Amino acid sequence: MAERIKFDKHIQDSTIHNPMMDKQLDTQALEIRKDPLTGAQSVFNPRLEDKVSMFYEKSDTALIEKLAEASRANCFLCGDTWKEMTPTYPKDLIPEGRIQVGKAVLFPNLFPVAQIHAVIRVGDKHYVPLSEFDLQTVGDAFETSLELARKLTTADMNVRYLTVNGNYLGPAGASIAHPHFQVVGGDVPFTYLEKIMGLSRQYLQKHGSCYWSDLMDLEKEKEERYIGTTGSVEWLASFSPSGTNEIIGVLPKRSQFLELDGNDVSGVARGLVNVLSGYAEMGISTFNFSVYSGPLGERDEGFRCFIRIISRQNVYENYRTDDYFLQKLLDNELILTPPETLAKNLHPHFNKTKSGDRLP
Ligand SMILES: [Zn+2]
Repeated sequence: MAERIKFDKHIQDSTIHNPMMDKQLDTQALEIRKDPLTGAQSVFNPRLEDKVSMFYEKSDTALIEKLAEASRANCFLCGDTWKEMTPTYPKDLIPEGRIQVGKAVLFPNLFPVAQIHAVIRVGDKHYVPLSEFDLQTVGDAFETSLELARKLTTADMNVRYLTVNGNYLGPAGASIAHPHFQVVGGDVPFTYLEKIMGLSRQYLQKHGSCYWSDLMDLEKEKEERYIGTTGSVEWLASFSPSGTNEIIGVLPKRSQFLELDGNDVSGVARGLVNVLSGYAEMGISTFNFSVYSGPLGERDEGFRCFIRIISRQNVYENYRTDDYFLQKLLDNELILTPPETLAKNLHPHFNKTKSGDRLP
């Protein structure tokens, strides 16, 4: 398997006369990594490892709370406001118009960017620090998205590709503070999903096995980036991340959303909650995630459902975006915390069980 999946590292030397070192010649060794499946590159300069604060200033908790407080009065997800303010689906898709599980409510986005574009209210609290996202609330939110997937199979809409996603706070692209997820999908896959499904299929044809299962087996053996399991989901830090502090959770037995059961939902929710708890300890206040599925209702032997979670710029006054030309236009990522260190940081968060965080 080791020869099928390669963790390529390429070293580049960059030499300058360094004014911080008496203008002496100074060579810095950069490590260029390549994702084993996509070839997506990331760069690590060890000199930057203890300079994370140059890129990410500390989160300003007082500012976050002030902004959250200012938006509370007009929030359509607080209290019962959503019952009046949010759109509903046609009855032939969802007879009740919206899908409710516990305090989670799924309803259509007023201005969709995909054939299916649903918004999910994640609990009734207007602002939740990353350390306080809880399993029940997150699990209920994921459950509404699976219920939507099940409803779509009986509707005459030809929606084959579905993803569940999240933006949290302004620097991560969220327009409201209140925790919410979004389900987007349609008859054609999104660019990244199409690419990853194609590459997974090629890997299956070439090697006769599933890339995602092979990757997990190999990473588990190597240990340095493997984090642990939450029920049926296995977690690791990406070798060559495509986002800051990227964590991946794979469901080794599931290729599409309709195969998921309550255990799987609980495993994904628990892992996300654990990652957010770890991020919080690292001083992070924002995140994005996407959960990917193969074509609905079809078993794709080369593909497995998986979730990618990344952190984004912290919230503070006059913050600069974390994505610049390197990521947006050159498709490369900058590594500040090496994946192997990130996995170590997250280990303790996958070994503890918080009381009261069990799904029924
Ligand atoms: Zn709210």
